Amino acid sequence: STMLEVSGVSHRYGTGDTAHVAVDKLTFSVDAGQLACIVGPSGCGKSTLLRAIAGLRPPTSGTVRLHGDLVTGVPDDLAVVFQDYSRSLFPWLSVVKNVEFPLRWTKIDKQTRRSQAREALAAVGLSGVEGKFPWQLSGGMQQRVSIARALASRPALLLMDEPFASVDAQTRFDLEDLLRRVQAEQGTTVLLVTHDIDESVYLGDRVLVLSKSPAHIVADLAIDLPAQ
Ligand code: ADP
Ligand code: ADP
Repeated sequence: STMLEVSGVSHRYGTGDTAHVAVDKLTFSVDAGQLACIVGPSGCGKSTLLRAIAGLRPPTSGTVRLHGDLVTGVPDDLAVVFQDYSRSLFPWLSVVKNVEFPLRWTKIDKQTRRSQAREALAAVGLSGVEGKFPWQLSGGMQQRVSIARALASRPALLLMDEPFASVDAQTRFDLEDLLRRVQAEQGTTVLLVTHDIDESVYLGDRVLVLSKSPAHIVADLAIDLPAQ
């Protein structure tokens, strides 16, 4: 079934002479359970597109639907992981409290919130550091915490904006493998944007290639590698 439908989405910054079209009439959909990557050069409009999908900044035209519902604000069954993990975690909260933080606004009771948070931390290989604070962890571990926090809410759609761009190469490989494993196990629908073509082909079941600014789709590839 279709999880995400992006229809004719354009985004223009500014008006009149200084107007700048960042995204140009993009149309595509993502099936439930897919790990789709969007790849394109820096500045082509990837973050702008992702923010429109997340309901963080409405597109100037076009529509976004998440399991059929029109996205007008941030949907409560959507989670976003940004590149800058160091700014996305609360330094005054322990790791487990960071992970359960978004669940405070759900009807889930306290005990279940804590167990979902622990489960998500275990899924990203972080059992045992629940009581530590983010600043006591390496950058790669902090980004794992951000991923755990996104997974703990069991989102219908997980959006990731260059999630591995700020970590060293080995940590990036580890996190990429981790994402593929967790995504396959949990069947989470993921849309990840990156400027790194290698990363998109390595991670994605599908790769949408964007042109230079203003972004439009120049290729939509199914990645179906033979089993190793
Ligand atoms: P990417 O994520 O692919 O690097 P962005 O979506 O960040 O691209 O940016 C696309 C284009 O829109 C760029 O030319 C950028 O300069 C411009 N842009 C991004 N954010 C703003 C903004 N808030 N105001 C004006 N222009 C912006
Ligand atoms: P080998 O050492 O057998 O040549 P590779 O260098 O192909 O193995 O891969 C080592 C690890 O790096 C793999 O487990 C994989 O996680 C990761 N990796 C390899 N290529 C990429 C890539 N293009 N993007 C992301 N991760 C990669």
